[in-house]
Amino acid sequence: MKCEELLKVLNEYVDGTVDPAICEEFERHMAGCDPCQIVVDNIRKTITLYKNGQPCQLPLEFRTKLHEVLRRRWNEAHSANSK
Ligand SMILES: [Zn+2]
Repeated sequence: MKCEELLKVLNEYVDGTVDPAICEEFERHMAGCDPCQIVVDNIRKTITLYKNGQPCQLPLEFRTKLHEVLRRRWNEAHSANSK
């Protein structure tokens, strides 16, 4: 899995619809890629914070915003890495 592919999967990851087989590749890529790890860590924390005390699904508006934020974070993390 490449960084670009991970970014695509991230949206499904946020929505909780990611395929278990893909999830495995996702974890494997993360283990060897610092920028992706930083972004995913960040998103995980945000989701956990939000879900704290609320077992329901993330509202669409929140997920859309999260998709934007993670794309921006991802771009930042990866451009900083290539310099
Ligand atoms: Zn990566």
